[in-house]
Amino acid sequence: LTNIQDKQHLNALVEVYANEAKQAAKEVDTKIANGTAGKLAGMVITLKDVLCHKDHGLQAGSQILKDFHSQFNGTAVQKLIDEDAIIIGRNNCDEFAMGSSNENSSFGNVLNDIDNERVPGGSSGGSAVAVQADMCLISLGSDTGGSVRQPAAFCGIIGLKPTYSRISRHGLIAYGSSFDCIGIFGKETADVALVLEVISGSDEYDSTVSHLQVPEYSKSLDVNDKKFKVAYIKETLTSEGLDQEIKDNVEYQIGKLEANGHTVESVDFPLLDYILPTYYILTTAEASSNLSRFDGVKYGYRSPNAHSLESMYKQSRSEGFGDEVKKRIMLGTFVLSASYYDAYYNKAQKVRRLIRDASKEILNQYDFIIAPTTPTTAFKFGEHSTDPLSMYLADLYTVQASVSGLPAISIPSGTGKGNLPIGIQVIADDFEEEKLLAFSEYLLKLN
Ligand code: GLN
Repeated sequence: LTNIQDKQHLNALVEVYANEAKQAAKEVDTKIANGTAGKLAGMVITLKDVLCHKDHGLQAGSQILKDFHSQFNGTAVQKLIDEDAIIIGRNNCDEFAMGSSNENSSFGNVLNDIDNERVPGGSSGGSAVAVQADMCLISLGSDTGGSVRQPAAFCGIIGLKPTYSRISRHGLIAYGSSFDCIGIFGKETADVALVLEVISGSDEYDSTVSHLQVPEYSKSLDVNDKKFKVAYIKETLTSEGLDQEIKDNVEYQIGKLEANGHTVESVDFPLLDYILPTYYILTTAEASSNLSRFDGVKYGYRSPNAHSLESMYKQSRSEGFGDEVKKRIMLGTFVLSASYYDAYYNKAQKVRRLIRDASKEILNQYDFIIAPTTPTTAFKFGEHSTDPLSMYLADLYTVQASVSGLPAISIPSGTGKGNLPIGIQVIADDFEEEKLLAFSEYLLKLN
C-alpha cells in the first residue's frame, strides 16, 4: 500500500481496495496459522479493468460504463479468491482493451516507471506498471493481439498469453471473442506458472474453454538439460520497422542458445505481412458486434441529451465511447456489411486459417518460435497517436500467436538505449505452456 501511494503519479490503478486488502490479509494470516491456506495465500494481485470482480467497479477504461459495478466474479477472479489471493486494486487500461500505449483510457495515460515521458504499452498498461513498480506481485490483463506481451516488454517484466481457451473468458469483457485471452504479468516465472495453474481449466460458463487437464506448471520449471530446436522467422528480423538494437538483441539470444547446444534455424513465413491486416479486420468485426450491447438501455451511461429512442442510442454511444473505440466499431461494421463481407471478413477468416496452419507447421518441426516482442522499445507519449498505422505496427510481432491461438510469452532481455527494457518473445504449440514456462525460466537464467 505504501508503494501504491508513492507511485500514484503513474496512474496504474483506478481504484485501490486498501481496507479490504488489509482485512483479507488478516484472514489469510489466520488460515496460514491453521494450516488451511490456499495455494496463493497472501499473493497480492491487481486486475485489469475488464475483469468482473463482484461488487467492484468495472469500466473497461470507458465512460460508457461509468459507475457500473460487477454483479459476479469472473471465473479466473473467483479462482484467485478461492486460493486466498489478495486483490488490491483495479488497473487502468486502454478503453475496451483497444490500444498499444494506454493513451486511449478515459482515466488518462499510464506512465512507464522507467521513464515517465514514455508509454507503458497497452492495452494492459496499468497492469504492467503495477507489477513493474511493485504495487503487486501479479496482475491479470487481457491479450487479444499482444496487450499483455507488448506492455510486459516495455516495462521489463514477464507477460504470458496462454493458448486460446486455456483460461475461461467468463467475466472478461469481450473485445474480439475468438482472440481474447486472460494473460498474466509477473516478475518471476514461478509466480506466473502458479497463477496459470490456478486459473486455467474447464468452466461451465464458457462453452469455448478447453477441457484438457491442467498440469502443475509451477512444479515443472526445469528443462533438465534438454536440447531444444528453436526457429526464428527470417522475415521478422528483416522487417523495415524493426529497430537495430532489438534485432541485435534477438541475434544475441540466438547466439547464446546455440552456444549452449540448442539448434536455432531460420524459417520462412511469407504470410507475415498479412497477419496485421487479418487481425484488424477480424477483431474490429467482432468488436462491432460485442460492443453493440452498450446502448444506453442496459448498462452504464445514458445520455441526458436524448429526446427519442433512436437519439438515446446514438447520443449515449457517441458520448460514452472514445475515438479509438468508435473508429473500430465503424471499421468492423464496414467489413461485416453485406457488400463487403466476402471481400474482407470472409477473406480474412480464410487467411487466418492459413496463418495458423503455417505457424503450426513450424511448430511441428521445432519446439519454439523465438521473435522480438516489439519492433521498438517504449516510445514517447504522442509519438504514434496521430498515425494509427504506425501505432498498429507496435503489434507486428505479437499478433501471430493471437491470430493462431497459440501460447506466447514475453520475457525481459536486457535493455537498449536510455536503459529502456527489451522483451523477447517465445511462441509454443497449443497447450504447451508447461514447456514454454520451463524454457522461459531457462532463458532468463542464461541472461
Ligand atoms: N494493441 C492491439 C490492439 O490495439 C492489441 C490489443 C489487445 O491485445 N487487447 O488491438
